[in-house]
Amino acid sequence: MSLSFDVHPDPSPATAEERAAVLAAPGFGRHFTDHMAVATWTVEDGWGDAKVVPYGAESFHPASAVFHYAQEVFEGLKAYRHADDSIWLFRPEANAQRMIDSAERLALPTLPVEDFVASIEALVRQDTAWVPAGGGEDSLYIRPFTIAHEDFLGVRPARTVRYYCIASPSGPYFAGGAEPVDFWVSRHYTRAAPGGTGAAKCGGNYAASLAGQEEAYAHGCPQVLFLDAAQLRYIEEFGGMNCFLVTRDGRLHTPELTGTILPGVTRRSILELARERGLDPVEEHIEVDDMLARVRSGEITEAFACGTAAVVAPVRAFKDGDEEYVVGDGTSGPVTMGFRQTLLDIQYGRVADPHGWMRKVC
Ligand SMILES: *Cc1c(COP(=O)(O)O)cnc(C)c1O
Repeated sequence: MSLSFDVHPDPSPATAEERAAVLAAPGFGRHFTDHMAVATWTVEDGWGDAKVVPYGAESFHPASAVFHYAQEVFEGLKAYRHADDSIWLFRPEANAQRMIDSAERLALPTLPVEDFVASIEALVRQDTAWVPAGGGEDSLYIRPFTIAHEDFLGVRPARTVRYYCIASPSGPYFAGGAEPVDFWVSRHYTRAAPGGTGAAKCGGNYAASLAGQEEAYAHGCPQVLFLDAAQLRYIEEFGGMNCFLVTRDGRLHTPELTGTILPGVTRRSILELARERGLDPVEEHIEVDDMLARVRSGEITEAFACGTAAVVAPVRAFKDGDEEYVVGDGTSGPVTMGFRQTLLDIQYGRVADPHGWMRKVC
């Protein structure tokens, strides 16, 4: 039986003025809407107690398993306001399925696709006023997550689990919008090992990525490129985004999914669009030294990162130790910007949606 998220409205939501002040300059992940969706799972009864409640702090037992063993998975997607004020999600069923896959890897209970989507729709309908205007790149970022809630320090899957869905009005992920950024090649730190959790969207992967990210910052790079953990030889992905290269012949290349790379919905969408355009994209093992040599020789003409938050972010240069490898002429390339524009146009309803990727909420 599927869950029904009953709404318990916030008796004192933000005023229209407070909301307008947030929406005028939302930033990323700093402000939250009036409500959140929650559900509880127990080993005895499965999922239940689904509701939309006022957003706010929760109290947790210090022994809650998530704090100790990081049994947690999350998702990230957006709600977009179209010109006629209708509100839409982009491929939410793909996020729902990925959270099921992530939960299985983390030994967490899985939330059925329809319940995941229902939680988002109930929350967004309740907080429609928080979905930013659609003219630019603002949207309502939605963060569903599942955590081990049982207060027990034994190491085993938790027997009580909580699901939450929170929402945050957001502007472009990078302050500079689509300005090309520098990526640091992490030759020491890795984020995901074979047999590990690299293909799951879980907090632990991010915890493991932060030292590499800090190293990138220390070298003046806002982002990091991780290599495979076994050999430090092949490129895998960026801190929280997948990686694409464009060669002089116009072809797209991306690392193949080997179980240590997060299967991005944006990555998959770009591959599907590229195939339709006859661009014959290649998913393959890409050696980092080979890639850097081909950037330097000019054979790789563009590189970009992709993910829900940033959509498509052009790479200006890769930095590897003291060496800098500028991609193309260091500006945003036409293939990169073309995919960026197509995705945004579909998401904001400015072009037809022949794939049926958009799902109307209200
Ligand atoms: C979420 C995420 C991505 C991008 O996935 P999308 O579904 O496109 O948003 C890429 N890499 C990592 C590590 C991620 O967590």
